[in-house]
Amino acid sequence: MNFSLNFYSAALLLAAAIALWHAIAVMRRPAGVTPSITAFLLGMAWWCVAYALHWSHTPQPYPSFWLETTYVGVVAIPTAFFTFTLRYTGHDRWFTRWWLMLATIEPILTLLLLWTDSRHGLFFGGLPRDGSPLFNGGPWFWINVIYSYGLMLTAVVLLAQAYKRATHFYKGQARMILVGALLPWAVNALMLAGFNPLPGLDLTPFAFTLTGLAFTYGVRNYRLLDIIPVARDTLIEKMADGVIVLDTQNRLVDINPTGQWMLRARGRPPIGQPIEPLLAHWQNLVERFREIQDGQFELQIEDDLPIFVDLLIAPLSDATGRYTGRLLVLRDISRLKQTELKLRQANEELHDRIHQIERLQTQLQEQAICDGLTGLYNRRYLEEALAREISQAAEEGQPLALLMLDIDHFKGFNDTHGHSAGDMLLQHLAGLLKGLARTGCIVCRYGGEEFVVVMPGAGIEQATERGQEICDDLAKTSVLHRGTQLRITVSVGVAAYPVHAHTPAELLHSADQALYAAKHRGRNGVAVFREQQRVQ
Ligand code: GH3
Ligand code: MG
Ligand code: MG
Repeated sequence: MNFSLNFYSAALLLAAAIALWHAIAVMRRPAGVTPSITAFLLGMAWWCVAYALHWSHTPQPYPSFWLETTYVGVVAIPTAFFTFTLRYTGHDRWFTRWWLMLATIEPILTLLLLWTDSRHGLFFGGLPRDGSPLFNGGPWFWINVIYSYGLMLTAVVLLAQAYKRATHFYKGQARMILVGALLPWAVNALMLAGFNPLPGLDLTPFAFTLTGLAFTYGVRNYRLLDIIPVARDTLIEKMADGVIVLDTQNRLVDINPTGQWMLRARGRPPIGQPIEPLLAHWQNLVERFREIQDGQFELQIEDDLPIFVDLLIAPLSDATGRYTGRLLVLRDISRLKQTELKLRQANEELHDRIHQIERLQTQLQEQAICDGLTGLYNRRYLEEALAREISQAAEEGQPLALLMLDIDHFKGFNDTHGHSAGDMLLQHLAGLLKGLARTGCIVCRYGGEEFVVVMPGAGIEQATERGQEICDDLAKTSVLHRGTQLRITVSVGVAAYPVHAHTPAELLHSADQALYAAKHRGRNGVAVFREQQRVQ
């Protein structure tokens, strides 16, 4: 093969090798902007190799063969350039089917028209194909020029906008990419102005190779948050969470508008300044974040109103893993907390209500079975309890006794001393009977001034004894009412299960009969039921 390596072809081959090397490196990260950078660099490598072959005087089928071959790269460049720009600037929605079709058809059509030019002259316009500049091409030549320059001009405008928009973090990256994009324009302008240190050599491929490298390093070295940085940047700018980036010396590297608002910092963020003064009324936060590299916690900050914040701290490191600072993400969770607080209050109220209801329920239950004046069980309860106790006594083969008490001459007492004095003495008697309840007896107010004591396990004798004790105790004690010591007596009737009766009604009736006997005998005493009384 006849290949003479001269300075021009060597320089072009070097550019091709560099482009290829970077294309392979970039290819390993197939996401975001990288496929378009790969395509761009591969297009450049092709362009440079073909152009190198042109300058090396390698044999060719016809005089402009190698120059025309460069076009495979030439047509790929604007498309890759533009695709990269759309992705980088976050204009992904421009990726329509129409754009993809145009992006594929235009370069292919250009190549077809170029290679079949001898038949129609649409591309070269009948110019000699000897490599001389194509300032006077055919119609498709100009369509392609307008298309390519149009795409690249739009791309430059978009990149310039992205540069203007970029915040501190991405300024460097956006600048590098914009400069890369402007480079071919500058080189072309110089060449048009007649300035070319290498006469005859088109410097455009070198300029574009540098563009490709600027894109590669721009994206790789400034890849602070990820692969589509400007789009990410916009996202962070608009985020509802406050984002603060600090360097290793706790100086502010970046802060988004929400972060600034949360810190109540007015004006331009003091980038590069220590963060502490900014956090004057965020003492909690200062104390927390000073030592911590990594973590998440809730903070309460006193402003006009208390603010609750969820703080996330994450360490940041560069590509080599070196610690470069910290990322602070602040989320205002005050609303959540308020809702939580309200919910807790509502819950507490609910608990109080439930307690109240339970108390009332117990009270109601007690009221249903207790007597209001004396606090003893009422007749309703007695009926229930007596039936239960008798059946239990039957099951266990145990005796059960019942005392029925009635105050003596109580009507007369009321008439003499008044109803309220009567009530006091009813309570006094109830107090005495309650002593029995403590020994397992069931004490009830059976009627107006009648009482019943159920004594499970007690026989006639024991019950009689108890009855007598009550009579004695009552007779011995008096109650002071309006300066007078008042005293009452009771008569007691005793009946027992199973000796005298088997059912509650029978037992009550028998005790009543015995009580009647006690009254008959002269009151203030105890009488036991006898069979013959039943006959009476
Ligand atoms: P006896 O010795 O025969 O039992 O004579 P007594 O006057 O007690 O006759 P009885 O048992 O029939 O009288 C019941 C009286 O009890 C009528 C009523 O004035 C009185 N009494 C009933 N309930 C109450 C009450 O809650 N308070 C007061 N103060 N008196 C009551
Ligand atoms: Mg009575
Ligand atoms: Mg009475």
